[in-house]
Amino acid sequence: MPDQSLVALLRVELAVEAERLREQIAKIDSGDGVLSFDENFADSGQVAAEQGENKVMVSKFREQLTEVEHALAKFEAGTYGQCERCGDRIGEARLEIMPATRYCINHA
Ligand SMILES: [Zn+2]
Repeated sequence: MPDQSLVALLRVELAVEAERLREQIAKIDSGDGVLSFDENFADSGQVAAEQGENKVMVSKFREQLTEVEHALAKFEAGTYGQCERCGDRIGEARLEIMPATRYCINHA
């Protein structure tokens, strides 16, 4: 594991990120998304396009959430900061930029 204070910080960041992603997903799923539209004026093609974009966004958020939750599980397991391919320590600079990464720089 890398430096404990950094690990603690990243764990908090990841927990906040997971919460943020869950909120985004819930918002879009409930139809109150960032790409909301006016039903009275939008034509059906535009509505369909925006709903399509929402779907793409939700699936991206879900993917990110999966990665973030996976990283959070690694804290529990005590394997956070280890490359899942070679088991080497992931560099701290890399973790700071991509706290949810599974792999070291050589296996990215
Ligand atoms: Zn590796």
